[in-house]
Amino acid sequence: MTSDGPLVGVLAIQGDVREHMWSLRAAGARAVPVGSTSDLESVDALVLPGGESTTMSKLALADGLMEPLRTARAAGMPMFGSCAGMIMLADRIQDGRPDQETVGGLDIVVRRNAFGRQVDSFEAAVAVPCLGETDFPAIFIRAPWVESVGDDVQVLARVDRGLAEGTIVAVRQGSLLATAFHPELTGDSRFHDLFVQMVRQTR
Ligand code: GLN
Repeated sequence: MTSDGPLVGVLAIQGDVREHMWSLRAAGARAVPVGSTSDLESVDALVLPGGESTTMSKLALADGLMEPLRTARAAGMPMFGSCAGMIMLADRIQDGRPDQETVGGLDIVVRRNAFGRQVDSFEAAVAVPCLGETDFPAIFIRAPWVESVGDDVQVLARVDRGLAEGTIVAVRQGSLLATAFHPELTGDSRFHDLFVQMVRQTR
């Protein structure tokens, strides 16, 4: 941990919070869990972890955090969502629960559990040109994929082989970053490095 790094919160209502905190620290940020509105107000940026987006939505609404999250995002707070976190940042969901809400901000349609039951969990090397020539070791766990993106959304990665070839699995729109997979579960910190760099640029 560096004492002068940006302070990045990890939404800590459900999901793999600790893994993101470790990855953020490896990328030079200070990392803290965010479980309340006052926690949220104290951070420079926020990670929304993997987990279960329906539960995250329900708890964020019950805890009164959904509106503060939307307000922070609308005010320009950088946010990075992985897997369930990607769903939380999407403007529109397919195969969501009828009462499922999101923070939104990313002009994308995301399909929950898109890879199907047979392939609940798998690892694939994914090319992410903005991170360099080496493929990223992407771990997918009951992952969504991105069905479609709006004009302002930059596609960072697509699955490049197999049945799901061509599917969009990482995007960026301004200060929002999202991956359908779990960079926090690999030793590869390049997505967290990119996010911390985005946070430094907006500070
Ligand atoms: N299937 C989960 C959901 O809909 C996401 C899974 C994950 O984050 N690993 O939220």
